[in-house]
Amino acid sequence: MTALGAEEIRTRVESDFNRIVDVLNQKIALQSISAKGITADHMKRSAQFVADLLREVGVDTKVVQSHNPDGTPGAWEVIGSKNVSEDAPTVLLYAHHDVQPVPDPNVWNTDPFVGTEIDTRLYGRGAADDGGGIAIHSGALKALGDDLKVNIKVFIEGEEEMGSPSFIPFIEEHRDEFASDVIIVADSGNWSAEIPSLTTSLRGNTDIDVHIKALEHPVHSGQYGGPILDANTLAAMLISSMYDANGDLAVPGVASEEPVGGLQRDMDEATVRADAGIVESYRLAGTGSLAARLWTKPSVTVIGFDAHPVEESFNVISPETTFRLSLRTAPNQRPEEAQEALAKFMVEHAPFGAEV
Ligand SMILES: [Zn+2]
Repeated sequence: MTALGAEEIRTRVESDFNRIVDVLNQKIALQSISAKGITADHMKRSAQFVADLLREVGVDTKVVQSHNPDGTPGAWEVIGSKNVSEDAPTVLLYAHHDVQPVPDPNVWNTDPFVGTEIDTRLYGRGAADDGGGIAIHSGALKALGDDLKVNIKVFIEGEEEMGSPSFIPFIEEHRDEFASDVIIVADSGNWSAEIPSLTTSLRGNTDIDVHIKALEHPVHSGQYGGPILDANTLAAMLISSMYDANGDLAVPGVASEEPVGGLQRDMDEATVRADAGIVESYRLAGTGSLAARLWTKPSVTVIGFDAHPVEESFNVISPETTFRLSLRTAPNQRPEEAQEALAKFMVEHAPFGAEV
């Protein structure tokens, strides 16, 4: 039993490359938009396509419909397995076959549902997320062929873009089909188009709603403005108190981490700026490597704010308001613990003794 050399793998992948691109083109054309109906026929067809595809590379697949926690029918999922030896470890391959909707095709440079190659990149809805994941699994299994040394299980989900409402009941119903030593989730980004990556940890996510109150009822700003700050201003003060002068989050108890093992190279700021569409004058907040700021340090985003719309606003001091903070937590911190620390900070830093 000789190990498969990198050269041999490269040759096999290259000879399979056109097939993989064709798989992506077919996948894009399927328009597997889960937002148009998780249980609908087009999603079943999409699952069937993926099941057939993986069967071609030796995985015994089937399409099964999940059930939501309330018992109603859920997504069309693909599960399957390929066994090479009872003694070999088992690897579960994950991807999802549903894609995001296309609210406005006019903002696309190409037809969203026709795979279009431009400068060696393939454009189309779901070409990367997560047709790319399906293509990776299919291509890897094809390249390894009979040289595969691990048992394989697959789970290709049909409702990831909808927040996976039937995920937990589905796992509980199919425990054996999920039993594995390692899970490979092919649904995250690469370091860059040139550098492929393995993501071994991600930030967690939690949120809190903060209610801040200064007055029992609204009052006129001409009469009371000055000593009484409006709730929006108080909320803004409270929000900004989470940051130090450099723009680093400074909330005690909310953990911050550095990448495990350190960094050989940082992310390219120009690429990050271009990808995110950052305006030229904006200086990036925080200190330390960009990779740590994006992946291992916590971050807070105000994702909702109950304030009066500018249209129809009038001269009144708003008595109270609510805002929602979404917190990305360091990979090794329990989100509950970070959530509690953030909530405690909010209460303790109420500006001017406002009720929080
Ligand atoms: Zn995805």
